[in-house]
Amino acid sequence: MNSHAVSEPGVAIPPLIAPTDIFETGLMLANESTISVADRRSKSSKANCQIGLESTLYKLDGFCVGAQTFKNRGPYAATKAAMEYGTSGSVARCVECEFRHNLAELELDVGRDRKLTPFALGANVAYQLIASGNWCKADILYRLRFVYKSHLKVRAAHTVYYGCLFCAQKGYTVHEGDATVFTREEQLFQHLKRHPQPLPEVAGVTVLYGKVDKDDPLIEDYDLHFPNPPVPSPYPDETALARLSTATTLKNHERRYGSRPLTDPDGNKDGVLQFLAGSRIVGIEFPERWKGKWCTGWQEGVRGSFPANLVALEPPESAPEMSNSGLAATTRWAWDKRDFKDQNAGWLSFGSNETIFHISWAHESDWCWAGMTKKGKVGFFPRSHIDPNSMRREPGPSLSSSYGMPKTSPSGLMRKLTVNSSGS
Ligand SMILES: [Zn+2]
Ligand SMILES: [Zn+2]
Repeated sequence: MNSHAVSEPGVAIPPLIAPTDIFETGLMLANESTISVADRRSKSSKANCQIGLESTLYKLDGFCVGAQTFKNRGPYAATKAAMEYGTSGSVARCVECEFRHNLAELELDVGRDRKLTPFALGANVAYQLIASGNWCKADILYRLRFVYKSHLKVRAAHTVYYGCLFCAQKGYTVHEGDATVFTREEQLFQHLKRHPQPLPEVAGVTVLYGKVDKDDPLIEDYDLHFPNPPVPSPYPDETALARLSTATTLKNHERRYGSRPLTDPDGNKDGVLQFLAGSRIVGIEFPERWKGKWCTGWQEGVRGSFPANLVALEPPESAPEMSNSGLAATTRWAWDKRDFKDQNAGWLSFGSNETIFHISWAHESDWCWAGMTKKGKVGFFPRSHIDPNSMRREPGPSLSSSYGMPKTSPSGLMRKLTVNSSGS
């Protein structure tokens, strides 16, 4: 981990919580554990922005070689003209993959001859674009060249993915809930809209800000133009996120070309979160009506719902310490994390309607509690899976005081922590 890189000037740093001296001077009331949880959270969230080997961008082998060629050597080295199959139109196809756009549209951006006839352009091109070659998405002006430079290698028909050149350049996303690969152009531009400005410098990419004089030669020769400052982060703040769990996605959850829209268990199409494997989701909650099978969470600044079995919850930053609390409760939904890569991190699996003894927490409202099953297994689990009305005083099997939960929950340690079941 390169924590030094986070403090470099120009690096996108996620929104931080208020400095702790605000709490210390008594302007706001907060107990100590609130401060430490949020503090710890803001540190880890910066580290969690790192684009690592497990990220979608790495899993999909990064940007297309053709996209890099376009960036370094221009459109004529990176594309070739081809007939669009089944039509009479010409396309400019990436030399490395099936990525393509209308040839006339690319010519309009990069070609010297700007006197194109409207007939040469696709029917979807507004007449005003013929004059300028400027496109607009999410209030950002752009040239078609930027889209070519941002594409990943196309592997399947109708499936085009994009990366953020700026996050990739820095090796960090803006927010830990950000994706590293985007399934639609619109999503990429919504992401760019939140980037702190100026964006990191990327060789071969020209970015303009604010008002650009109409006589400026760059006005027809750039990649991106941000007329407006970045929009504020739509994510909940660090303190709110610290109370909720975070997950990495195990599988893709996206609507395939030509298939029905994804729907949640209530049949709603709106608000279903789509994502690719290897991304992160923050602020996860388990609404009661979905009985642990679906959850909600935030990615790319959008809150949506998705099946719980497509994600792996990350273990808590610091596991709650087990104590002889004498508190017991009944589980309302099963929790089985055998699929998690970090399954030995200290998770406690259980079925529904089981009793959990010695329920312990760092803070009662934390998403993560610890406890012990009737058979003497100890570990942590999401509080959401406990019936909140079943909390009761019940001593349960004895818990030796020497069996504490590990503070940092290293892999494999929990197996040694299994309490002998002789007390039950
Ligand atoms: Zn390509
Ligand atoms: Zn980015």
